[in-house]
Amino acid sequence: MASRANHRFLLGFALLCAAALPCPVAGPAKAQSPATLAIAASVPAIATDARLAGDAKQTRFVLDLDKAIKFRAFTLADPYRVVVDIPQVDFRLASGAGATGRGLVKAFRYGLVMPGGSRIVLDLSGPAKITNSYMLDAANGQPPRLVLEMEQVDLAAFNQAAAAESKSGRPAIADANAAVSTPTPAAPMPAPNPAAPPDSRPVVVIDPGHGGLDNGTRSGGEVMEKDLVLGFALALRDRIEKSGKYRVVMTRTDDTFIPLADRVKIARNQSAALFVSIHADALPPHEGDAQGATIYTLSDKASDTEAERLAEAENKADAIGGVNLTEEPTDVADILIDLAQRETRTFSNRFARLLMGEMKNTVRMHKHPLKSAGFRVLKAPDVPSVLVELGYVSNKGDLDHLVSEAWRSKTVGSMAQAIDVFLAKRVAKAGAAN
Ligand SMILES: [Zn+2]
Repeated sequence: MASRANHRFLLGFALLCAAALPCPVAGPAKAQSPATLAIAASVPAIATDARLAGDAKQTRFVLDLDKAIKFRAFTLADPYRVVVDIPQVDFRLASGAGATGRGLVKAFRYGLVMPGGSRIVLDLSGPAKITNSYMLDAANGQPPRLVLEMEQVDLAAFNQAAAAESKSGRPAIADANAAVSTPTPAAPMPAPNPAAPPDSRPVVVIDPGHGGLDNGTRSGGEVMEKDLVLGFALALRDRIEKSGKYRVVMTRTDDTFIPLADRVKIARNQSAALFVSIHADALPPHEGDAQGATIYTLSDKASDTEAERLAEAENKADAIGGVNLTEEPTDVADILIDLAQRETRTFSNRFARLLMGEMKNTVRMHKHPLKSAGFRVLKAPDVPSVLVELGYVSNKGDLDHLVSEAWRSKTVGSMAQAIDVFLAKRVAKAGAAN
């Protein structure tokens, strides 16, 4: 329990940082100028440009802003990354910014990670340390700039620098991630009220994949998975709520990054009757073409190599968002989890088959529409969970469907129908057992 209290403290710490109150800047940062300290916390700063300079030994990252901001930069391993936590920033960068790298930086991403907090994640080609990080005031026609200087190091030096970073005030890596991964997401977190449960309807958790600095897959054009699946999930929520029989909880309702473990936590804390994660797949160009919707359930062993590839790609979300991949310790005995999980998997599989039965009447399905693999987001031991890949953004026909209002409405209808049939059975069973 001590560690939980600790997490709460760290959460507070992260939120304070996010609110642009004084918090330590890791690394040998220069003293901040008075202009840097005079920060209006209320209006988000606007980022207008980001660029990289240098070579494979020394690389510099520069972010142009309309005003100075507080920041906290640190390195993470496995894979090697630099994470920059900043107050909420309105990113108005050119489309495609960060897609290509330079020097030590392979690529970078940016976006909202919590209300009031944004993050930039730089993917590194190998171990590096932050040699300098500072804000520059506007000067010589240049706007205020956030600057990070990085230098290639060997593994021993990397570990040393990381240890020094955590000593110099930032929480240890695992704790930093816990702090960042626990904030209240857009969806209301449970406020358990044991006296009088205000709403006893079964809860359906709908989980639009990705979000914030994790864009998910991307078609050749401008369409991003995170936007497609959010639109679909919101339409599904509206459809399910119409019947009034179920309460719907969303893991996100806007373009925010939510770590995978937090999505699972939402389902568990809500004692959800069902968890449905919504995604859209893409096949790398050299792997040919595929089309149609696929429904995935959890298994220790992937049903085929494509399922394995996909689970691996989807499980990368945390690394993309800058969160460490360390498994969170569970607070229930393993044996109980095992028992619950077996039953839950039976229900998950039952729902997957039901869903396929409904969807195949209205939607083009993949030639093997039911698959399984080790998706981290499906790991709630006590909540039946499925992940639906609506189609392939890499396939022209599928993409046309995915962006079509008529297709979405049809598909949402068949999913809502399957959810209704599944839950009606469960509710009837529970009633009979009492
Ligand atoms: Zn996805």
